[in-house]
Amino acid sequence: MIAGIHRPAVVRVNLGAIKQNIDNEMKHLRPGQKLFAVVKANGYGHGAVPVAKVAEKAGASGFCVAILDEGLELRKADIVKPILVLGVVSPEYAPIAAVNDISLTVPNLKWLKQAEKYLKKENLQLKIHLGIDSGMGRIGFSEDDEFIAANKFLEKNDSFFVEGMFAHFASADSSDDSYFKKQVAKFKHMQDLLTVHPKWIHVANTAASIFDKDIHSDLVRFGIGIYGLNPSSNPDSPDLKADIALKPALSFVSELTHVKTIHKGDGVGYGSTFVADHDTIIGTVPVGYADGWIRKFQGFKVKVGDQYCPIVGRVCMDQFMVEMPEKMPVGTKVVLISDNPNDPNNIKAAADYVDTIHYEVACLLSDRLPREYY
Ligand code: PLP
Repeated sequence: MIAGIHRPAVVRVNLGAIKQNIDNEMKHLRPGQKLFAVVKANGYGHGAVPVAKVAEKAGASGFCVAILDEGLELRKADIVKPILVLGVVSPEYAPIAAVNDISLTVPNLKWLKQAEKYLKKENLQLKIHLGIDSGMGRIGFSEDDEFIAANKFLEKNDSFFVEGMFAHFASADSSDDSYFKKQVAKFKHMQDLLTVHPKWIHVANTAASIFDKDIHSDLVRFGIGIYGLNPSSNPDSPDLKADIALKPALSFVSELTHVKTIHKGDGVGYGSTFVADHDTIIGTVPVGYADGWIRKFQGFKVKVGDQYCPIVGRVCMDQFMVEMPEKMPVGTKVVLISDNPNDPNNIKAAADYVDTIHYEVACLLSDRLPREYY
């Protein structure tokens, strides 16, 4: 996809804030604990490579991505530290991972056996992390027999180097610890079955680390915290308080491209869901759902100049309209998402408005929007 550099719509990323968030987490780590920066999904929409470079300088010991291609992107950008793919990679691609020194997650015994065949053909060794399903219900070993058999299979098996064993929490961001504790117990049980000796046993995500959950984790897979966002995003309960300061790094800005007055009875947008009942000033912003600014944002207030103005009419594919209290010129700055957590259009407020979480709002911002780093 082409980034629109000739249109006034840009995602701005404060690399100083990213550095500060990682520095704060590095100071918060327990003795000996390492930080792996989670930069999957293009660094949660912030840009994987620029974020990884900052994380590397700030002392990250490695990186987590979701798919093999994201790992390859980092290697192409001369990132040399360990990279772990958290998702399932088809076993036929195990040799590509091995050649590029990228570690893969093992979801089950069948995967191991299939990957071994591909690795043996090319006489390669792959670094692996044993995935454990301790209650996330997603990928990894959950049955004792299969896990014991996988361990046996791996003992003295030259095709694999067992670098890690990990699980992921379903609710580390919740003040109710009951399910979290169940997951910890299940993981400990699986750990007791190990007959191979992984270098890194890891379970902590941002939430488990910054809410100081009582767990052993040789490394923290630090994701949302990098971007300065509190993972505790349950709209029904107040945020859990993070142990470290977090500074949001992302803002999303555009400009008015058109301003006019409409009159009583005039509609705005597809389906004319807004009809003026008096003379009304309408501004047009060149951003739409193709940029990840979804139709549900209708009614959300963005900052135009120094006024918060509601989005009126349906959000179109490439444009939306706002109702303004006064005429402002074409070119007036529009802040769709503010990086100031106290502003009413901060990313958490935007996510709440469209019934989702800030992770999703950031990830949805499409590649058509250039990222500007400062
Ligand atoms: N570990 C795994 C397996 C994940 O899937 C994720 C994110 O989804 C993370 C770590 C990072 O989580 P967070 O961004 O909440 O820190």
